[in-house]
Amino acid sequence: MHHTSPLSQIYLDANATTPVLPQAAKAALGAMEELFGNPSSSHITGLKAKSLMEQTRLRAKQLLGSGQGKLIFTSGATEGIQTAILSALIKAKASLEPNRQYSLLYGATEHKAVPNSLAHWNDLLEIGAQLKAIPVDEHGELDRDFIAREVPNALMICTMAVNNETGVYQDLDALDTCIRQHNPEVFWMVDCVQALGKRPLALAQTSIDYAPFSGHKLYAPKGIGLVYIREGAPFTPFIAGGGQEGGLRSGTENLPGMAALNEVFAMLLAEQDSAFYGHATLKGYREQLALALRRAFPTLVFNHSFDNSVPTTLNFAVPGFSSKEIMDLFDAANIRVSSGSACSSKVTRSFVLDAMGLPAWQSESAIRLSFGPAMTQAEVDQACERIQSAANALGNSCLTLSGNDALADKKPLNGLVQLKSGSSCSWIYADQQSKQAVVIDPLPELSQRIDTLLQCQQLSPVAFIDTHGHADHVSGRAELAARYLPEQSSDHLGWPEAHQITEIGARPAQSISLGQFSLVKLATPGHTNDSISLLLCSPQGEVIYAFCGDLVLMGSLGRTNFDTSCAKQMYNSLKLLHSLIGDDTLLCPSHDYNNEFTTSFAAEFRVNPLLNEVINGTISMAQFEQQKARLDTHLKDEAGSEIICGAYTGDCDRAKVKEYDCQALRLQVGQSPKIKLLDIREPHEYALQHELGALGEQTINVPMTRLVQFVQEHKQESDVEWVLVCRSGSRSLVAAQALHRLGFNKIAHLKGGYALSDS
Ligand code: PLP
Repeated sequence: MHHTSPLSQIYLDANATTPVLPQAAKAALGAMEELFGNPSSSHITGLKAKSLMEQTRLRAKQLLGSGQGKLIFTSGATEGIQTAILSALIKAKASLEPNRQYSLLYGATEHKAVPNSLAHWNDLLEIGAQLKAIPVDEHGELDRDFIAREVPNALMICTMAVNNETGVYQDLDALDTCIRQHNPEVFWMVDCVQALGKRPLALAQTSIDYAPFSGHKLYAPKGIGLVYIREGAPFTPFIAGGGQEGGLRSGTENLPGMAALNEVFAMLLAEQDSAFYGHATLKGYREQLALALRRAFPTLVFNHSFDNSVPTTLNFAVPGFSSKEIMDLFDAANIRVSSGSACSSKVTRSFVLDAMGLPAWQSESAIRLSFGPAMTQAEVDQACERIQSAANALGNSCLTLSGNDALADKKPLNGLVQLKSGSSCSWIYADQQSKQAVVIDPLPELSQRIDTLLQCQQLSPVAFIDTHGHADHVSGRAELAARYLPEQSSDHLGWPEAHQITEIGARPAQSISLGQFSLVKLATPGHTNDSISLLLCSPQGEVIYAFCGDLVLMGSLGRTNFDTSCAKQMYNSLKLLHSLIGDDTLLCPSHDYNNEFTTSFAAEFRVNPLLNEVINGTISMAQFEQQKARLDTHLKDEAGSEIICGAYTGDCDRAKVKEYDCQALRLQVGQSPKIKLLDIREPHEYALQHELGALGEQTINVPMTRLVQFVQEHKQESDVEWVLVCRSGSRSLVAAQALHRLGFNKIAHLKGGYALSDS
């Protein structure tokens, strides 16, 4: 289609929408500039417009094999779906038998437009039928036994020809037989949106009553679609008015949309030079892309079988990476793909893959790569190259082992890394000089990532240590220690038996060495009776970081209502820790519920009055115990989710940070040389692309995983105007709020991120 330069985007999200083909766009423009008539006008301009409309309908009829059925132009598939459901349900309502429980059946992997519309009209028309999802098997195929059982009581059954997330197609003939054998009367809608141009259709030869289509999924613009209505199927206009479309769908017709669709149909019918490639070519593209993906990510799995899916959709998962992470990576490589579609909850997951019964991780890591039949070989080649460079960047970033240790761009790791799984944190401190590292609170979900990082950086871990026996999860410590330190004897938290005795705050303490640094263990019971804090001390003896487990959490204190908790001990532990590290040393806890990364006593005093009183000495141990008990009663174990390990003592401090749009930032950068741009994406994203569009400014890369070290190293520069930048502006906002809370008063972020920086 278009020739792509190295930095131009490769669009592989055709199932979401497609660009308008140049030929179709030209036709649409013609319908706006010349053939602009109203098809209802009886003058020549109107007649020409009407003729174009009828030609489009005729081509659609040929293409879809719609026979004597009606084809009505709509605004898109969602309107077609409403039209079908409304028509079917109004008719069904007229002959409901009293006291009979009816159902409305829909495929479990249907686009949300279908069940949501069914529920809406079922309510609005007061039909009171029960909505039932037809299960699918692991291949995504509808359960025909279920249909056979349930369809006798159904008023309507809605299925889809091709699934938008997986490309899985249904056997429409087998469904036809099954449905009609058990209920010849039921109204049957088949969502054909993703089938157009990808699967042969002969609608009039089936008993399908309604079939919606959408132009923007196949190179026509948004706002034009079609719905097929079988001859004799009930019909109620969804939009009434001036009587257009024979009174079936009023409103002046979208002629430019139809003109574009007309071109697309002509190409599909091969009536003219086509921009579309045939099935064999598209299958070849899929093979090539699948091979490139497997080569780039050797552990990748496909979430569907290629045997029952259209060749234009590949849905896959890379073990150890969330959808979001791969999306961010591909976006930085300028490849546009899509993640699992439903993202209402914290974790993005795919209800389609869930319905297919795939393991949770596959659903949470799902990535959909989809293209249209106008895809060219050059674009496929370039996509494959780009996929490989994205994977290489991940290797350079030590998130995968590429098997190539001589990777030139791999940066040696020095200092603190914060890894997160949900709201729990694991911490790694690496000393580049000695090549030694210590891992604190290793989460099992992060074991693989920690292992890869250690191997890739060729670090020797000196210990894997938990700050306490965790109540909410099994530690990943034992597994890692067994692999790296099989000979080491340690206590139940992983603290090595071979340690030194040093002195801290004029008291003896156990410590281990990490190159020239030392890690000092401090008993800080309270949250649990085995809780410890680990103080990382510089060669000069200064505490740089305090890994405090669940003693102090951002905006809260660790809960003390476990059997092994003791609020009185916590009171003493807080005082002890403060006496040794002071107001400003960074605290690195084992949870971060609000994306605040790190804290310090000084930062906590501003939001946590109870802690303030403990350290000030204005509250007694008994009073603390009382107040703490009250706080802990507010803890909620959110249904089945993670245990909240600490009670909030105050409202979350969501600072209003300064927001720039690209234009304002450009102006500001010109005026104030003090502004520094901080790209907070992960190093692999940064490596792939960091041109800030028209801004042309140099950025420094400080990924979120290294933000705490940045805070530590730049504490003194809190009045520099840092402007944080990321892909879309969401991570930068979160990080800017966190930095603001930690005293970086002039922090700002770029709204819209790189995504909007070109405009
Ligand atoms: N059905 C399926 C399978 C789809 O993929 C989509 C598009 O997201 C729709 C329905 C809705 O189509 P439209 O955007 O034309 O309303």
